[in-house]
Amino acid sequence: MKFQVPRGTRDILPGEVERWHWLEERTRVAMSLYGYREVRTPLFEATDLFVRSVGESTDIVRKELYTFQDRKGRSLTLRPEGTAPLVRAYLENPDLRTESPTRLYYMGPMFRYERPQAGRYRQFWQIGAELLGPAGPEADAEMIDLFRAVMFDVGLADVTVLVNSLGDAVCRPRYREAIRAYFKKHAEKLCGDCKERLETNPLRILDCKVPSCAPVIAGAPSVLDSLCPECAEHFEAVKRALTGLEIPYEVAPRLVRGLDYYTRTVFEIHAAGLGAQNAVGGGGRYDQLVKDFGGPDTPAIGFSIGMERLLLLVGDQAPPPAKPDVCVIALEPGSAVEAQALARALRGQVDDPEHRQALHVVVDVMGRSANAQMKWASKVGARWAVFVPMAAEGYGVRDMTAGKDEARQRSVEELRRWLIGRRGLVESPR
Ligand SMILES: [Zn+2]
Ligand SMILES: [Zn+2]
Repeated sequence: MKFQVPRGTRDILPGEVERWHWLEERTRVAMSLYGYREVRTPLFEATDLFVRSVGESTDIVRKELYTFQDRKGRSLTLRPEGTAPLVRAYLENPDLRTESPTRLYYMGPMFRYERPQAGRYRQFWQIGAELLGPAGPEADAEMIDLFRAVMFDVGLADVTVLVNSLGDAVCRPRYREAIRAYFKKHAEKLCGDCKERLETNPLRILDCKVPSCAPVIAGAPSVLDSLCPECAEHFEAVKRALTGLEIPYEVAPRLVRGLDYYTRTVFEIHAAGLGAQNAVGGGGRYDQLVKDFGGPDTPAIGFSIGMERLLLLVGDQAPPPAKPDVCVIALEPGSAVEAQALARALRGQVDDPEHRQALHVVVDVMGRSANAQMKWASKVGARWAVFVPMAAEGYGVRDMTAGKDEARQRSVEELRRWLIGRRGLVESPR
C-alpha cells in the first residue's frame, strides 16, 4: 500500500517552512502594530454558516465546499474562508464586543474543492483582518492601509490597489436589475453557468473566468452609475482618505469579489509578478452580515491575503534555514549520554528572546563511530565540532569551516562564552 498526499494539497517541508515562519512572523507584527488581535476558530463550522454568509449561488457554496456529516448527523463544513467564522465568534463571545471598534485577525488553512492548478490548492493558507463596528470611510482606509503595510513588511512595495463600490440594500437591487437586463440581451454569448446566474445572481456573472464571457462582461453597465447618493458619497470619502494617506489606487468598476456578503467598498491588491487576474488578496465591507447572523446592527470591513501567493512574490527575501552552530562528537561509544548532556548545557537560554545567548546544538543519536559523526557534522553544515569526554586540558573544539583545531576550553561555561563570542564574528550570521 502506498499513500500519497490528497490531490490538490501539499506538504510544506523544512527548507520551505522557514520561509513560512518568516512570513507568519512579519504579518503578525504588522497586524499587532495596527492593534489587531488574533482569533483562532475551528477548521470546521456548521454548514449553514457558510451557505448563509458566502451565498447560496456563489461558486464557493455550489461547487467548492468540503461538507460532511459527523456521527450525530450534523452537517459540518471545512471553512472555505475566514470572515464568517470570525463573525460567529464575535457574536458568541461578549468579551470581543466590550470595546468598539473590534480589531481581529486570523491566520490558517482554508479549504475549497477547486480544480488544482499552479499555485492553487484545495487546502490553502490565508491571513485576514476584520474591523467590526465602524461605518465610516476611515475604516475602509485603515483596512487598505493595513493590507499595504503587510505587503511592505515582507518587502513588496510594488502593489496596485483596486477599489470599487457595490452599493447597499438601497441601490444594489437597482444595479442587479440593470445588469440582468443587459446580460439577458447578450444571453446567447454567455457560458452555461452564467445563463443560470442570470436568474439566480446576475452580479456573479461579473467574476466569471470563462474567456468567452469576457467581452460581454466588459460592456456591462458600471455599478458606480447606479449608486444611491449615500453610497456615492461614501465611495468619494474613501477615495479622499486614500489620497490623504498617499495610497495610490485605481477605480475598478467590474470588481465584485466572489462572496455575496459584500456591501459598498470592495478592494483588491495586485502585485507585480502575478498575472493580471491574480490578486494577492482583497476584501470589502459587509455591513449586513452581523445582523444577518442575528446580531446587532454592526457595520464591518475585512480582507484576506493568500499566503501561497505572498510567498511566491517574496521569493528569496526570506532567510535561509538555520544551520547548527555546534555538533557534539562522542569520541568513545560510552560517552553518548555525556554528549547529550553537554549539548543541552550549550544550547542555553530559551527564555532569551533574541536567542543571543543560545546555540543551535545537535548530537548523534545513531550510535555512529567518531569518524562517521564528523562526516555527519560537516554534512549538516555545523560550524564547530566539540568533543567529549573532556580531556585533562579542556574540551577540544574544531572549526569545521576552516578545518582547524581551536584552543581548548576548560569548562562548559568557558566553552559557551567562547562559542557565542566567536559566532558574533561569523560574517553572515544566521
Ligand atoms: Zn460565464
Ligand atoms: Zn446605496
